[in-house]
Amino acid sequence: MKLPRPALAGTAGLFLLSLAAGCSDAPPPYDDATAAWRDFDGEKAMRHVETIVALGPRPPGSETLEKSRVLIEEHLRPLGWQVRRQTFTGKTPQGPMEFTNLRARFAPQDSDALWKESTRVLFCSHYDTKLYRDLVFVGANDPGSSMGALMEAARVLAARPALARHIELIFFDGEEAFGPNITPADGLYGSREYGRKILRPLPPEKKPRWGVLLDMVGDRDLRVTLPNDTPPDLMRLTLESADALGHRDKFGVSRMSIIDDHVPLNVEGVPTVDIIDFEYAYWHTPSDTIDKLSAESLGIVGQTALHLIERRLVRE
Ligand SMILES: [Zn+2]
Repeated sequence: MKLPRPALAGTAGLFLLSLAAGCSDAPPPYDDATAAWRDFDGEKAMRHVETIVALGPRPPGSETLEKSRVLIEEHLRPLGWQVRRQTFTGKTPQGPMEFTNLRARFAPQDSDALWKESTRVLFCSHYDTKLYRDLVFVGANDPGSSMGALMEAARVLAARPALARHIELIFFDGEEAFGPNITPADGLYGSREYGRKILRPLPPEKKPRWGVLLDMVGDRDLRVTLPNDTPPDLMRLTLESADALGHRDKFGVSRMSIIDDHVPLNVEGVPTVDIIDFEYAYWHTPSDTIDKLSAESLGIVGQTALHLIERRLVRE
């Protein structure tokens, strides 16, 4: 569509033009030599996982989960991320329970307006561990690994403000079910609340365009199993990014769909890929400990996710 030529002249016109430039939403062009993924350090991500695991079990409502919130906030804020808590009460099989999602935006200052602006990409992990009363479950891979990867990605992105401001980081509470398995009424408490309260009210043009979820990404024997119902575009782009970085042999497609925090985001119209390695022998056992993980695996997933986000998702 051709627009009529604006009847502006002189300084007023220039002023309006410069305002428009200041509000430009265009992300910076991708430059492979200085791309974010190159700075993602699997060792640094691993240090975060160690600190998190040392807190012990971190089920919803626990003091140790509050400590992990503070840990995340104290890492993000000095880097320039604004962090807000989305706290709510969920109905669980064990009665009402308080949950808190952590949302982070890259901006010079916090304001209510900031949180009403849309971002292009959601980059997420859950941060609660599954509750066991009869055993000690520290969740090094589930969810320590993806928390550590997201915290390291926050450092890398903070050095690239023009990119970072297009991304919202989210740490979901209450991913794990209180019963043995996630059901429509139990589990995904944080992502369902985020979907209902944050995404659903947004008109389609204001919704984030994509989401990337990380879960169980630190297994030494890394074999990513993308759920088979991943939105097709995202499936292709994720595999292309893995290929571009020489990690294609670590990425496969599961024969199953997987129920995880990406499901409520997909339901609310934000196509989201779950980068998960579900072939993990220690899943939901007391043996999900730090010795099962490697910095190399964290590096492979962190770099691939950043390549995907910067190279493809922020610009499309
Ligand atoms: Zn789990």
